[in-house]
Amino acid sequence: EIEAILDEATAQKRIAELRSQIKQWGQEYYENDAPTVEDFTYDAAYATLVSLEERFPQLITKDSPTQQVGSSIQKSALPKVEHPLPMLSLGDVFSMEQLTEWAQRTEKNATATLAYNLELKIDGLAIALDYQDGKLVQASTRGNGIIGEDVTANILTIDAIPTELTEPVTIEVRGEVYMPKAAFANLNKQREAAGLATFANPRNAAAGSLRQLDASVTKARQLSAFIYYTDQADVLGVSTQSEALTRFAALGLPVNLTNQVVTDAAQFAAVIDDFSQQRETLPYGIDGVVIKVNALAQQNTLGNTVKVPRWAIAYKFPPEEAITQVLDVEWTV
Ligand code: NAD
Repeated sequence: EIEAILDEATAQKRIAELRSQIKQWGQEYYENDAPTVEDFTYDAAYATLVSLEERFPQLITKDSPTQQVGSSIQKSALPKVEHPLPMLSLGDVFSMEQLTEWAQRTEKNATATLAYNLELKIDGLAIALDYQDGKLVQASTRGNGIIGEDVTANILTIDAIPTELTEPVTIEVRGEVYMPKAAFANLNKQREAAGLATFANPRNAAAGSLRQLDASVTKARQLSAFIYYTDQADVLGVSTQSEALTRFAALGLPVNLTNQVVTDAAQFAAVIDDFSQQRETLPYGIDGVVIKVNALAQQNTLGNTVKVPRWAIAYKFPPEEAITQVLDVEWTV
């Protein structure tokens, strides 16, 4: 499609169509937790928009979905919270070739030899947890990256998230709230029996369940969480992403310790293959692998764009029927 668009006027017209379509899908997905198209359809339209904007950079505007995180949260009835530092999205790649290109670019821009931490990409929604002197005081969603929704009462119903850390530290940590596959299957079974609309996938179910005005609804939904990020590593006294994960766990936070450190991009394929083989049997959904530069100093050197960190990338798994099949089996038991 993109190859055929050579002149600016045609590009502008197509860009406008794509932006409006992507914004509508984004609203359905982020605000209503009810997508109407598959992720790969969204991703394909998004990738076309990115390519057109790369070819015609003069047509990039601040309100393009390529320059914004998530979606507007104006309609949400939850109280709003401003993030002290923006919560970003992740760039994504869909092939080993694109991933290798990303690594080459990243290594060129880094000022030291890089090691990488590879993590499962948990299919949930991002949250920020604010601990003051070790006590959980506020929890918020990513929202549009700058302003999120206050979901403190709802987060307090999630057993995996400690109300108090093992040390009296003051730190904001970020991670993913997700709905385990079994809880998702049960929820949809119950909703179907009650004649209610079912959730499209565990990610939308988790988001819909966390963004409730009544915390008792959230409690019944059996959500869980993994923490993977802080921008206050100094508080933890760590210098790498993999050490940060270990420290989070020592603080009593839920951490997914399946991560693997590699010292060479040539090792990505083996780890991704290993992770993708676990996809079906894991009790929670994953939609890819997140590859992060391990040294925090190098992360700082590489920095962020307005939307994504340059020091990390999501390798997205191809769409798979496997997950649906696993859930179908659980549905029948
Ligand atoms: P994303 O969900 O693809 O990636 C960024 C997010 O990954 C982070 O915000 C974080 O929440 C999460 N994450 C999970 N595990 C992580 C880990 N170990 N380390 C760091 N982050 C981790 O990005 P996005 O901007 O939220 O949304 C884009 C995605 O949403 C695309 O996959 C797209 O297909 C989908 N989407 C679909 C529709 C639709 O209509 N089907 C609409 C909008 C968006």
